[in-house]
Amino acid sequence: MPTPHPATRRSLLRYLAAGTGLQGLLSLLEQAAAAQDAPVRRMPSIFIGHGSPMNALQDNAFTQRLRQWGSTIGKPRAILMVSAHWLTPGSTAVAVVSRPETIHDFGGFPQELNAMQYPAKGSPVFAQQAVAALRGVGAVPSQAWGLDHGAWTVLHHMYPQADVPVFQVSIDFSQGGKTHFGIGRELASLRDKGVLIAGSGNVVHNLRATENSDALLPTASKAWAQAYDDAVKRALHAGALEALMDYKSLDMSHAVAVPTPDHYWPLLYALGAAGFAEKPVFTFEGFQNGTISMRCMQWG
Ligand code: ZN
Repeated sequence: MPTPHPATRRSLLRYLAAGTGLQGLLSLLEQAAAAQDAPVRRMPSIFIGHGSPMNALQDNAFTQRLRQWGSTIGKPRAILMVSAHWLTPGSTAVAVVSRPETIHDFGGFPQELNAMQYPAKGSPVFAQQAVAALRGVGAVPSQAWGLDHGAWTVLHHMYPQADVPVFQVSIDFSQGGKTHFGIGRELASLRDKGVLIAGSGNVVHNLRATENSDALLPTASKAWAQAYDDAVKRALHAGALEALMDYKSLDMSHAVAVPTPDHYWPLLYALGAAGFAEKPVFTFEGFQNGTISMRCMQWG
């Protein structure tokens, strides 16, 4: 049986709902039909340096930039988020929940932060498409994750209405840079379906070497942090993919700047999802807590 034209489908739905008290259902179905009919815009791939969870509450140069950035990108159909805070050694998981909970995965912060909610919906449909795209690495659907602070503290500013569905893809922490980059490449096709691909971490991140003040400064308080951030920027400009996948090769400061790669790996997902012809645009640069690089970028 042929599929009715979208306009016919909507008329049919209107007819079926008339006089039945199903106006709410009609509205929902019409929204779904409109979403299907809307022209799909290819979405960028981005990397967000998230820094302190306190950014969720703060109005500073970084959070103002996030707000501006979100409105410049516009509303994607969904956001696929790879956060430094969902590590699953041994496998890659994709959250297929329809109502992701706001996870407060930190300690020692004010009650106001612990009470914050980011009530975006999940996107089981796109999440299943991500699982399918990642069948080569045996990605598994998961009901066990909502939105961790690597996701919601920044999305709170980029999409303050929480009106874009979000789902997370975990990082298999037993794997190296080539695998993470490769997974990003496999996910790139979702951009053509209107899905924004976002990595959230920090390219320089050593919690033992931070300072108390979470003020934002244009340069690092320590030479090693500046050196590593500069090396990442140079490599990205040069399209030095092999070097970026092997983060220890970028600069000798890696031992202090990236003592563990959890906050670096999300960069490789965003980089992998970028097309080879796309050059990164740096949307924010600077440091928080002295040595945490807040470098953000966009491809496409
Ligand atoms: Zn973090």
